[in-house]
Amino acid sequence: MNTNRQQELMAVADRALLQNYRQQPAVMTRGQGVELWDAAGQRYLDMTAGIAVCCLGHAHPALVEAVTEQAKTLMHASNLYFIEKQILAAEALTERCFGERVFFSNSGAEANEGALKLARRYQHEVAGAPHRNLIVATEGSFHGRTIATISVTGQPKYRVGFGPMLETVEFVPFGDLDAATRVLEGAQACAFIVEPIQAEGGIITPPAGYLAGLRKLCDDTGTVLIFDEVQTGTGRTGAWFAHQHDQVTPDVMTLAKALAGGVPIGAVVATERAAQGLSFRPDRAVPHASTFGGNPLACAAALAVIETIEREQLLANCTRVGEHLEATLGGLVERYPGLCVETRGRGLLRGLALDRPASPVVARCRELGVLLSVAGGDVVRFAPALITTPAHIDEAITALDKALGEAASAAA
Ligand code: PLP
Repeated sequence: MNTNRQQELMAVADRALLQNYRQQPAVMTRGQGVELWDAAGQRYLDMTAGIAVCCLGHAHPALVEAVTEQAKTLMHASNLYFIEKQILAAEALTERCFGERVFFSNSGAEANEGALKLARRYQHEVAGAPHRNLIVATEGSFHGRTIATISVTGQPKYRVGFGPMLETVEFVPFGDLDAATRVLEGAQACAFIVEPIQAEGGIITPPAGYLAGLRKLCDDTGTVLIFDEVQTGTGRTGAWFAHQHDQVTPDVMTLAKALAGGVPIGAVVATERAAQGLSFRPDRAVPHASTFGGNPLACAAALAVIETIEREQLLANCTRVGEHLEATLGGLVERYPGLCVETRGRGLLRGLALDRPASPVVARCRELGVLLSVAGGDVVRFAPALITTPAHIDEAITALDKALGEAASAAA
């Protein structure tokens, strides 16, 4: 154990890093599969996967090889030129979903920015409706940390101190089709942006038929339908994309997080028609761009992720292990009635809702060597790698059981 090294690094962090985060007291230095090690040499079982990012686990040989080879070959060239791996990654995405065209960015917030710009310009310049500005979003949602994406995030706490926001935003309750109908039929909206499962908001699944209802409503009113699959996409729920469980397609989908397994990336995936919203016109400036977006390294990683998910049948593994996780979490609800309220989620995006803030339980699990995270304040979130096995889940549940047992007896 090298606790001194860890303490030294945290002391440097204290004076050198901007103090925006509230990191837990561990400096992560190495990962392998679903395990992480900190600078003091402590081993953790990782049930967070970097908040739903490291879908192949840490240091997966296929991803390591793809990134290493690409770094040796071509790291960056810019969108002044075509990029081989960008073209192939775009094709790989379009072959697996409704989308016909892809724009690559570097993060989820940036993908959502791109989707909102696409919707505005689609309405203004393709549909000939320059008055259609209103973005409709859902209460409890999370779409990122830029000014536009906090403007459409339905949790006021993220906006405090950052105003003024985008003015043309209206929120409706998540899962409430009648409320969506009232707004969309009453106003000529530009776009409706929604997560198929609200992740940061507390792993909340909408009622059956909600996404299909939104699809019909957007068709009837000419509104651009955007599914934010930044957290639910790339296999997380046992399908390539969460909306595929419902046989519903949006006009635009945003991706990031797991798409390149840990290399920063984002993507806007659109139908041919919606994609016209960001098409270049010879008499105009390039409508949207990103220096790093679609760079060879990130796109080589995305290709390796997509190929590996298929080769190792990780969608099926996600469904199978997700069901085991659901069953074991259900056992905790029975064992700790009151303290544990319910289980939530799909595939390997699961939550255990508590009757109190979840962060003390998550912190205790970390002390016990298991990494989890909090969603929506009172939900313990599991978002482990898609390579996770039932044995890993059992190890995590043993620690969670202990932490909950302690919390229950402390409260008694
Ligand atoms: N959208 C959703 C649904 C998210 O969960 C997140 C991040 O948690 C974002 C957007 C923002 O992504 P990023 O942090 O990559 O900007």
